[in-house]
Amino acid sequence: MQRKKFMQLAGLSSLGILLNPFKLIADELVDFKSNEHVLYYKKGDPSYEILRKGFNKRIDKYPQIIAQCFDEIGISEAVKLAIKKKMPIAVKSSGHCMEGFSCNNDGMVINLSSINSIEWLDKNTIRVGSACTLSKLYAEILPKGKYLPGGSCAGVAIGGLTLGGGYGLLSRKFGLTCDSLSVVKMVDGNGQIVSSENNGELLWGCKGGNNGNFGVVSTLTYKLHDAPKSMQSFKFRSFKVSTNRAKSIMENWFTITKNLPNDCFSAFVLNQQTVYILLTNTGIQTGAFKKIIEQLKSISDKSTQSVQQPLIQALKNYYGKQYPLNFKNASAGLYKDFESIAGCANEAIDIVRKMPGMIYQINTLGGKIQQSDFDTASAFPHRAFNYFSELQTYWEQPSQQSKLLLRFQEVQDVFFKHGIKAQYRNYPDINFKNWESAYYAHNYSRLKQLKNKYDPNDFFRFEQSVRG
Ligand SMILES: Cc1cc2nc3c(=O)[nH]c(=O)nc-3n(C[C@H](O)[C@H](O)[C@H](O)COP(=O)(O)OP(=O)(O)OC[C@H]3O[C@@H](n4cnc5c(N)ncnc54)[C@H](O)[C@@H]3O)c2cc1C
Repeated sequence: MQRKKFMQLAGLSSLGILLNPFKLIADELVDFKSNEHVLYYKKGDPSYEILRKGFNKRIDKYPQIIAQCFDEIGISEAVKLAIKKKMPIAVKSSGHCMEGFSCNNDGMVINLSSINSIEWLDKNTIRVGSACTLSKLYAEILPKGKYLPGGSCAGVAIGGLTLGGGYGLLSRKFGLTCDSLSVVKMVDGNGQIVSSENNGELLWGCKGGNNGNFGVVSTLTYKLHDAPKSMQSFKFRSFKVSTNRAKSIMENWFTITKNLPNDCFSAFVLNQQTVYILLTNTGIQTGAFKKIIEQLKSISDKSTQSVQQPLIQALKNYYGKQYPLNFKNASAGLYKDFESIAGCANEAIDIVRKMPGMIYQINTLGGKIQQSDFDTASAFPHRAFNYFSELQTYWEQPSQQSKLLLRFQEVQDVFFKHGIKAQYRNYPDINFKNWESAYYAHNYSRLKQLKNKYDPNDFFRFEQSVRG
C-alpha cells in the first residue's frame, strides 16, 4: 500500500480527528482491514466515539463497526464485508436524522463524512458528495450566482436531505431539493456500484424515498438555479395569547398565506404563549405582497422587518445551532388548509401553550413544489398538501426529558385521532403508526420493488426502513 497516500486520506476526515488506522483491528474483527478507500473503527477507538455520535444527544447507539469510506470502492468493500458478517447497515452523512436512523446497535455504520466534495460539471451543474453540508454548498455556489433549494440548517448534509425530499425557504420558488437532482451514484445491498444514468426508476426512488432504504448514495448531481440577489425577512409577534387567540391567529394566517407569492415562505410558530409569524421574500414588493404584510400586521401585536440582505448573508440568519442538542423534533402532519386541523387545533394549542420547551410550527409548502412533472418524477408523495407542520422540544437537564416527551406524544395523538396521517420522512417519529403510508403513501409499493431489486437480503434495515 502507498503509505503516504493512505495517511493523506486518513487526514481527510472532515471531523479533523487524529486517526491511527494501523491499530484499529481487533482480533474478532480481523477481516475489517483498513486501506486507502475505507478505515474501520470499533468500540474503544477514540475516533469511534466521535464518528458514532449524531446531532441528537437524546439518541445513543453503538455499532459493532464504523466504516469511514472515502469513495465508492471503499463503500462497496464495506458493504460486502457487512454482507459476509450478516450485519445490518446504517448510512450516515451528517448524522442529523431526528430519530438516529443513521446509526445502529451492533451493526455496521457506513460513515460518509469524508465524501463531501463539490465538483462543477458545467456552469449550471454540480456533482456533490453526500456528506457535503448546506453551509459548505451555499458558500461554493452562491458567490457564483447559483442556488439549490435546500433546508435552512447549516450542518444538514445534502445526501439525507435530498433522499427524503428537502424543503426550505425557497422551495415554493424552485421546488424541493430532490426536484433539482439529475443523477445519483449508489452502492447497493450487493455491494455493486450503480448509477441512475439510463435508470429512471432509481432516480425516481432517490427523490424522496431512499433515506438508508436500499443503498448508499455516494454522489448526487444537481441542476442549479439562478440565485435571487437578496432576501428580506418580516416578523410578526403576539404575546400572552390565550388558546382561542392563538387559534384565531392561526386561522387568519392560513387564509392570508393562501395567496402567498412563490418568492415567499412563511411559518406560524407557537412557543408557549407567544405566536411568532415569519415571512421571507426574495422577490419585489408587489401590491399583493404589501397587502399580505398589512394583513399580518393587523392580526399581530408587533412587527419588525430586516433590511434586504444579499442571499448568502440572509440565509445565515437561519443556520441554527451547529452543535449536538437534546431534542425531539418530528413531523406533526401535512395539511391542505385550516379545515384539516380546525377540529383539534384548540386541544393541541392548549398542550403546547402550557409546556415550556415545546414548539409547534407550521410551514408553507405549495408553489413550485406542486408542479406536476416534479410529482411524477419523484417518490415524494405529498405535493398536494400546502402546509407542513412540525413539533419540537428542547431540554438541558435529563430530568426534563420524560415529561416533555409525554406531552409531545399527547399532541401527536391528538392529531392522529383527528385523521392527520400524512408525514414528512425527513422529520421521522419512531412512534408513528403506519409509518409506511404516512411517509410514502401510494408510492410505498413502488419503493418495495426498488428494495427487492437493490437490497433483496435487507441489509439496509432500521425501525422504519422500506421492507421488500
Ligand atoms: C436542526 C435540523 C434542521 C433541519 N432543517 C431542515 C429543513 O430546513 N428542511 C428539510 O427538509 N429538512 C430539515 N431537516 C431534516 C433533514 O432533512 C433530515 O434530518 C435529513 O435526513 C438529514 O440528512 P443528513 O444526511 O444530514 O443526516 P443523516 O442522519 O446522516 O441521514 C439521515 C437519513 O438519511 C440516510 N442517509 C444519509 N445519507 C445517505 C446516503 N448517502 N445514502 C443513503 N441514505 C442516506 C440515513 O441513513 C438516515 O436515514 C433538519 C434537521 C435538523 C436536525
